[in-house]
Amino acid sequence: MSIALAIHGGAWNVPDEDLQLHLDGISAALQLGWGLLQGGAGALATVEQTVRALEDNPVFNAGKGSHLNRLGRVELDASIMEGDHLDAGAVAAVERVRNPITLARQIMEHSPHVLLVGEGARRFAEENGVQLCRARDLLIGRARERYLRIRAGETELVEQEFATETEEHDGHMGTVGAVAIDHAGLIVAGTSTGGTLDKYPGRVGDSPLIGAGTYADSQLAAASCTGWGEGILRVVMAKSAIDRIAAGMNVEQAGQAALGDLERVSGRGGMVLIDRHANATAAFNTPRMARGIATLRDGARVGVESQMRPQRVAR
Ligand code: ASP
Repeated sequence: MSIALAIHGGAWNVPDEDLQLHLDGISAALQLGWGLLQGGAGALATVEQTVRALEDNPVFNAGKGSHLNRLGRVELDASIMEGDHLDAGAVAAVERVRNPITLARQIMEHSPHVLLVGEGARRFAEENGVQLCRARDLLIGRARERYLRIRAGETELVEQEFATETEEHDGHMGTVGAVAIDHAGLIVAGTSTGGTLDKYPGRVGDSPLIGAGTYADSQLAAASCTGWGEGILRVVMAKSAIDRIAAGMNVEQAGQAALGDLERVSGRGGMVLIDRHANATAAFNTPRMARGIATLRDGARVGVESQMRPQRVAR
């Protein structure tokens, strides 16, 4: 059985001065994940560990480094799904959890539920040994500065979040995610985010919603999405891509078709997608998307702009 891993650090208008930071973050996470998968780790551990590395990197809008909501608090969303049994776990609007992807996995494996939110999710974390932190441990200067600028009246920062290249940009996006297929043919998808800039308290986007932001089915494919969540969840974008694969499209065609759905609601975003034959791709209609793909056939590649470039990864 062939293996593959595809990861992302968000589809948005990454500014030129941040390109290298995104490339470095993606390269490090891809190296970690691909090393695990090649070393025989399962897709579940690979996706969890890779997403954790991206959550821990303050460059990305997930875990530490997440956007603040309108009250100046960090509320996190994440989900994980394994495609053999169609099991899933997810967490939304949870505070003080350092690695929400691990909490999502715990919910999948140790509760009868799929999605826990807010206070209940935090309580479950406490009871199940998932690491909690202080609220300020997730906060970084960039997020605080944007929060203060928006409060001072710079509301255009919010509107520019998914700006095209011709528009100004200063919003910071960078939801993270990973999809993997392992030697046993198990396919897993995971996604983690701090949500959107200046979101209303309690707002939940696509990332923790199974079918919208994340989906995995070992008989077909897996997808992890990023972008404007209100649009993605209305077109159930991850599942919509996988349905296209069920109908006979390849991963590239399926990604483009799902983006076509997103465009029906004037949405911008992207996804990483792999199928059960270990074909992998990234599709996006934003100016840039931080992404990395590793397959046995093509090796490892990373990119933020339209072209990807080879990435040396240690075996
Ligand atoms: N999709 C995420 C959300 O709407 C944001 C992102 O991908 O950057 O919460």
